[in-house]
Amino acid sequence: MNKVLLSLLAAALCWSAGARAADKKIVLIAGHPSHGPGDHEFNAGVQLLHKCLQNVPGVDPTFYLNGWPKDPNAFDGADSIQADHLRIIGDLMKKGIGLACVHYAVEVPKDKGGPEFLNWIGGYYEDRWSTNPHWEADFKSLPNHAITRGVKPFRIRDEWYYNIRFRPEMKGVTPILIAKPDDETRQGKSSSPRGPYPHVVAASGREEVLAWAVERPDGGRGFGFTGAHFHKNWGNENFRMIVLNALLWTAHVEVPANGVDCAVTDEDLKKNLDPKGK
Ligand SMILES: [Zn+2]
Repeated sequence: MNKVLLSLLAAALCWSAGARAADKKIVLIAGHPSHGPGDHEFNAGVQLLHKCLQNVPGVDPTFYLNGWPKDPNAFDGADSIQADHLRIIGDLMKKGIGLACVHYAVEVPKDKGGPEFLNWIGGYYEDRWSTNPHWEADFKSLPNHAITRGVKPFRIRDEWYYNIRFRPEMKGVTPILIAKPDDETRQGKSSSPRGPYPHVVAASGREEVLAWAVERPDGGRGFGFTGAHFHKNWGNENFRMIVLNALLWTAHVEVPANGVDCAVTDEDLKKNLDPKGK
């Protein structure tokens, strides 16, 4: 199956990618509107990413807005939209389909989705274990990986979730973005629920993994990225390139040597925003 699924699960964003065929399908799924203007603009975000992917050879991108697709044909092999989403995704994963989750899409309940996410993408945001303050992450260096091709060190403020619940000993998890929250950030004054969480404060000085990649034994790939709360961050070329590269990588598409280059203007960033009042 040549499917790539990019979804924002539940009220979140999450992408997944498939394998082995000419044009790789990438399905982008935007979560429901959940915040005020400029935040969690997942509907606008997936359309922006879709526009960029349309220019990439070998990729066939589609997108769905406002939550889980109502189209029963959205995913080959998914039998019913009434069925449990975890089971539907689980069936896709067994076929080696990739899954990339961005921001809200990395958060799942630890007893309903947690174990599955450890399997599928290597980690997840666990309520009250992980934390979600707004802070400026400084990515001073990047690992040598297909996902970082063309990406230069950068710094950007976002609601970077961290202290992600990863597989024990990070088994099979490759960190892609690492930054060190300062002690002020660890107080979690902007976290929900509010910090401080003693275990987060106690980890003072530790670097945190904010994006990561896994390769599953079934051949599928997984990617997690905790930023993208602020829609305007898609205007940052390095931030944007990491996610676009990751979508290709998750779909088993060769990432260009200089990364996925896609210009995004201020006008582009104003398109498709959710109506006010949502
Ligand atoms: Zn957010």
